[in-house]
Amino acid sequence: MKYIKNVAKTYPNIAKLIEIGKSNMGRPIYVLVISNMKTGTTIDKLVKLRNMRKEGVKNVPPMKPYQGKPGHWICGSTHGNEHTGTEVCLYIIDKLVSGYGSDLKIKQIVDDQTFYICPAVNPDGLFNSIEKGISQRANSMKKDDDGDGKVNEDGFDDLNRDGYITQFRYKDQKGRYVIDDVDPRLTVRLGRNEETKKQRYSVIMEDKDNDGDGKRGEDSERGIDLNRNFPEGWFKEDGMAGGSGDYPTSSPEVHAIAEFFTNHRNILMAQFYHTSGGFTFRPLGTAPHNKLHPKDVAVFDMIMGKKYLEIIGEEVPEAWKKPESLSKFKEELKEKSKNKYAIARGYELPRGWRVSYNETRDRRYAYGMAMDWAYMQYGIYSITTELWNPQKDIKDFPQFDGADARIQRERALLKYQDEKYGGKLFVPWKKFKHPELGEGEIGGWIPKYRSNALPGEPLLGVCEKHWQFELFRAGLQPEVVISDAKARVLYTTNNANTAGVSQKGDQVTIKKGKSKGRYKIIEVTVKIENKGKLATHIARGAQLAGNREDVVWLIGERDKITFLQGTPFQKLGVLEETMKIPGYSGPSFSAPPQQQRMQRMRRYVPPGFPVRRWPRQMFGPKQVKQTGPKREVKWLIAVEGNTPLKIVVTSQKGGTKVKNLSIQ
Ligand SMILES: [Zn+2]
Repeated sequence: MKYIKNVAKTYPNIAKLIEIGKSNMGRPIYVLVISNMKTGTTIDKLVKLRNMRKEGVKNVPPMKPYQGKPGHWICGSTHGNEHTGTEVCLYIIDKLVSGYGSDLKIKQIVDDQTFYICPAVNPDGLFNSIEKGISQRANSMKKDDDGDGKVNEDGFDDLNRDGYITQFRYKDQKGRYVIDDVDPRLTVRLGRNEETKKQRYSVIMEDKDNDGDGKRGEDSERGIDLNRNFPEGWFKEDGMAGGSGDYPTSSPEVHAIAEFFTNHRNILMAQFYHTSGGFTFRPLGTAPHNKLHPKDVAVFDMIMGKKYLEIIGEEVPEAWKKPESLSKFKEELKEKSKNKYAIARGYELPRGWRVSYNETRDRRYAYGMAMDWAYMQYGIYSITTELWNPQKDIKDFPQFDGADARIQRERALLKYQDEKYGGKLFVPWKKFKHPELGEGEIGGWIPKYRSNALPGEPLLGVCEKHWQFELFRAGLQPEVVISDAKARVLYTTNNANTAGVSQKGDQVTIKKGKSKGRYKIIEVTVKIENKGKLATHIARGAQLAGNREDVVWLIGERDKITFLQGTPFQKLGVLEETMKIPGYSGPSFSAPPQQQRMQRMRRYVPPGFPVRRWPRQMFGPKQVKQTGPKREVKWLIAVEGNTPLKIVVTSQKGGTKVKNLSIQ
């Protein structure tokens, strides 16, 4: 955390540290914003709101200029014992800030985009895992778990006082473990009803009964799993609680993130790092895959997934290489596969790029997960990478498969740490007399190296691969620009209202008013385009609550402009992608999401009171009915005097741009 504070201090022009909340133990949760702080603008700054957002109002802080650029969220250590994600976050921060001055590509994304990097979502779990040597996945809670009036009085205990909570193994006729023949430092778990002639063992974390209630570790600091506390798919089908916590966002950590995402609608990419396995989950885990729009599926799999597999060096599915033959692959799968979702897609998801939802059994993976929440509710290309796979991330690591692959890998990994780390990552087993369980041994992997990238070269390799992948994703972000804006004086008049226009279809005819006067009748033509690879929203993104379609404003002093044609802001729909989406040929659904008429509140009208009916089109902004990545928008306005005019195009995720209009 010192590191990110230093980064913010050293690079004030491109980095800003924000505290988004505090953990239960009072540790701050930080987000480092990386973006050129001198570029960017937001609609707040340009359109006077009736109630301006104010500093200090926690729920609606004023928008910062960097919120007017496409946003990219990256976080680690939601699970406290998975610190490799934190390392990758710090690596990415380093690459961005140190590359800014020297690498043009990095300079460009830092100028035009915004990274929100939260290295430790769960600072308490991370602290305990690293500093106290306890492997703590969950957050911390000050809670009396065992109801004895004392809080957190019976957690794990460092019995041999070596600074780590490793394991205690002891002979036990009911034990489920035996000692490995090849490497007696390893204990092997038996199958459920597996018979053995060997001595059975039980294995527990280093722990004793601290409060004399006959139980060990029943009131520790350990709280809830934060990646089950998000408000998507949290409830079971029967309406009962399925996720963790008393209610979704009950933990201060998840609450802080939910509030941050709600206030930072510019986030279009999100990565929630976990360990381990060396693969990436794309949505969904709480519901079947067909809740995703087919276009998003194509973006996730054929664009991002393909690149990811290339980076980690795994085989890309045939169907992704030949998206034009998807229907053929679907036919083939009908014969081969029992996975109905795979058949509908035309391919099985590969090991390296998958969903956590169990497609063959049609069963959800879990409840209340961050990635699903970000995609479903905020319209974000969210993913969760399970970092670290020794077999892939250690150079020349032996490959195993078959029934005993798992134990073979364990042996090889232990041998690797003997050779490369002088055995320092594993505590050798030593005799210990447990106060309740008697004779046994204490030893095992130091928890922070378990399921995390080993330090040095392997970790560096993991960091580099995932930096490359997020850099690739940054390159997909939309980029909304005003490519041209023209204002042309048609004539001048003394009275704004005598100027007139009549419209027939797209044809606008102007009726000239009388001689020269104080009003200029001006025709404004603006060309807007998305230059980025992806559209400004995911397929259904603009329809989600809190999201909106892209709009363009013509702004000037409001009492000096009369709009003759076009409304002060016009709705643009979703500015579409410039790249071809492989494997998708569906409708252009980012066309305006149903012609939305301004919803009028039903007012109480006394009986007999005359109700004046306004023609429909007098309410609400004009909808520009064009599709694709480009729009051409026109206004006809009467302007009094020389009031300055501005064009502001604002897209939640595609960025906000402003251009001053010069009147010709
Ligand atoms: Zn995890």
